[in-house]
Amino acid sequence: MSKAKIMLKRLEREQKLRVKYWKRLFSNAYLEEDTNCWIVNFSPATRTPQIGVEQVLIQCSRVAYTLLKKAIPDKQEVCHICDNPRCINPAHLFLGTHQENMDDMVSKNRVSTHMRKLSDSQVIEIKKLLFLKKEHQDIANQLNISVTAVHDISAGRTYLGVL
Ligand SMILES: [Zn+2]
Repeated sequence: MSKAKIMLKRLEREQKLRVKYWKRLFSNAYLEEDTNCWIVNFSPATRTPQIGVEQVLIQCSRVAYTLLKKAIPDKQEVCHICDNPRCINPAHLFLGTHQENMDDMVSKNRVSTHMRKLSDSQVIEIKKLLFLKKEHQDIANQLNISVTAVHDISAGRTYLGVL
């Protein structure tokens, strides 16, 4: 069993650890209002943020799922209905196999989901403005969306398939 899995097992059982890492995780998260995502701002440059739990690095979404929902069965991954790997809102997390996770990512790139907030034409407009080196804040103001949404598109975290 990997170190991360052993630590997740401890998080399932040990109340003191649960409280400690619940606080740590949620004091480093903010609500993104237009998507209702709870975004963790650990290492913002990485697509999949991790948290150190007693010196063991584990994906934040796995820790959140274990703390807020239930244990993650073997060979299951925590997937996002919102398609944002930095989100830890339990309402946005579900379990799937690795293959389902991949299929889900592919289908989300292809068709819109109910979580999608922006239309293709809006995304294309944003990408055009990014290409023209407009400030993220100005783009957000112009289209009346959050600056985080612009950051995410700019970094390729969302709407990667819309060109
Ligand atoms: Zn979310």
